[in-house]
Amino acid sequence: MKVFKFGGASLKNADGVKNVASIIRQHGPDKLLVVVSAMGKSTNALEKIHSLAISGQNSSSQITILNDYHQEILKQLFPAGHEVYIAVETLFQELRTQLQGSGEFDQIYDQVVSIGEMISSVIVHHYLISIGLHSHWLDARTCITTDKNFREGKVDWIKTSAKIQALKPVLEKNIIITQGFIGSTEDGYTTTLGREGSDFSAAIFASSLVASSVTIWKDVPGVMNADPKRLSAATVFEELPFQEAAEMTYYGANVIHPKTIKPLANKGIPLLVKNFEDPSLPGTKIHECKVYDLPPLIVFKDNQCLISCKVTDYTFVTEQHLSIIFNALSSLDLRVNVMQNSAISFSFCLDFREHKVLSLIQKLQEHFEVYYNTGLTLITVKNYDEKTFEMYRSHAGVLLEQSSRSTLQVLVRL
Ligand code: ASP
Ligand code: MG
Repeated sequence: MKVFKFGGASLKNADGVKNVASIIRQHGPDKLLVVVSAMGKSTNALEKIHSLAISGQNSSSQITILNDYHQEILKQLFPAGHEVYIAVETLFQELRTQLQGSGEFDQIYDQVVSIGEMISSVIVHHYLISIGLHSHWLDARTCITTDKNFREGKVDWIKTSAKIQALKPVLEKNIIITQGFIGSTEDGYTTTLGREGSDFSAAIFASSLVASSVTIWKDVPGVMNADPKRLSAATVFEELPFQEAAEMTYYGANVIHPKTIKPLANKGIPLLVKNFEDPSLPGTKIHECKVYDLPPLIVFKDNQCLISCKVTDYTFVTEQHLSIIFNALSSLDLRVNVMQNSAISFSFCLDFREHKVLSLIQKLQEHFEVYYNTGLTLITVKNYDEKTFEMYRSHAGVLLEQSSRSTLQVLVRL
């Protein structure tokens, strides 16, 4: 059996849904499970709605915009009176109810933001049925069990795999359509797996069902050695070893979610990255292989925050200071992207998740003089050559630089 994953860009309008349906229709004789993300930029819109509501502001006009967007897609795909209209309306009701719910910031976030995937999967499911395919809609929350770490739910693999394996009889006769990105706690709260987490969902289903492959359908021709929107000379890899792909995602290549590779590599399940606009293109195959002479790989990671902790008592940075910093980081579940030590200060950069990073800074201020800059970009050049090394080191606006034998990283203000 195979797993397909379609992201928001492939489902951004009615033509997108039709194109996805045609790829599904042509998938061949294998059993198939399809994971879908929220349509277009719905997740961003839902984040905005959540943050307005939480801060006591009126979110109704944003909800109307999101509803109109989906209604437009529905109108082009279904006749008036089709049952899908009621299904989508019920989800919008659910959204309004959840916005009024009580709970922590992140907990409500997950109840709200997950609705994008619910809507999109319902629309795709009904469309597949309408063109005569045997689609079975699955609520991913009934299978993917996580802890209560809202917005970054950690999967309980044993429980999750058992529930997914129980789907095998359904797959005999149906194509399963389900949501990426979402799971559920044991007491029934929706959780999300981290932004862009639908790829990871696809890997969870594939690993539990020991699929023969996973295909992620993207708007790029495959995995490239740089983001083509930033470097027009970027080229597509025909194949990549799991290890190389995993490292790329670690540095922030957003073509695949970082957690996707491990479950697939552990089971030897190849991951194909293909273009939904032109499915005839070969794409990239990520699997166990050896590839020599990989070109330099350039990854831009935006929205970085550089924090410097300066000791205040004329001593030097000691292990004790470091342990205060790392304890604070780990208690907030924050990950450092680059770090650097000097005599009297320790600097590190991390993704600027405002809510968490500001509480981190507050904690650190109890012990250090803290300086920070936001809006930075971390550029990583993996497998650099002489030319790329010099080019990125001398980039304008470098705040921090670090290199090893194979990798150069510079933190810049673009
Ligand atoms: N819809 C979610 C997001 O935009 C998950 C995903 O796209 O993978 O982050
Ligand atoms: Mg997405």
